[in-house]
Amino acid sequence: MRGEFACIDRGFWRIVWGLQFPGKVTNLLWRVSRGVLPTAVALLRKHVIISHVCSWCHEYNEDDLHILFDCCFAKKVWHVIGLLNIVQVNMNDTVIDVLKRASTIGTEDQWVMGALFCRSIWYRRNRWVWDKLNVSVFGIKSVALNLLTDWRRMMEENGGKKGGAYARYTVWCKPPEGWIKVNIDATCHQGSEFTGIGCVTRDDRGRFIRA
Ligand SMILES: [Zn+2]
Repeated sequence: MRGEFACIDRGFWRIVWGLQFPGKVTNLLWRVSRGVLPTAVALLRKHVIISHVCSWCHEYNEDDLHILFDCCFAKKVWHVIGLLNIVQVNMNDTVIDVLKRASTIGTEDQWVMGALFCRSIWYRRNRWVWDKLNVSVFGIKSVALNLLTDWRRMMEENGGKKGGAYARYTVWCKPPEGWIKVNIDATCHQGSEFTGIGCVTRDDRGRFIRA
């Protein structure tokens, strides 16, 4: 079931927190786990008037599972990086189901690459939908491999210790003129069924708006 997050996925989230992904990757995983990634199908559920059809293949409904794994374009990406067999989609799977299975059948490196490529695919999807910027499989590969290189360097520098090596290197930057930026973070506590989430909104001059 989409949105399951607390009890059954604790093992999965322990892996995610332990690997200290960049915030944008953790944020993507958290949003798919809650079923709130703003795909066309998710937006339609919120009564946003938008086409439900995938903007890449123009054939299927665009939900998170389709855009990240099932779309012919996404499959090309997974094929090119050699992970197509690791991220197989079964009937009634969620994105988290696919990633959880990948974490058990692949190596840690493959799993990390899978998470980073999800983020890269979603980023490229947004550039295409909102900016009409052309998308290439190799462009996605390049972005994700850069993320992977950075992640490995940070983990080495941090000795793999908990504490967020990325936090030391991530510098907040202003959104483009006329835009606002919302930074989101979330946490779940072992032994509790509660999840915490917070967000801060700032304008294009970096001024605080609301939290
Ligand atoms: Zn598609």
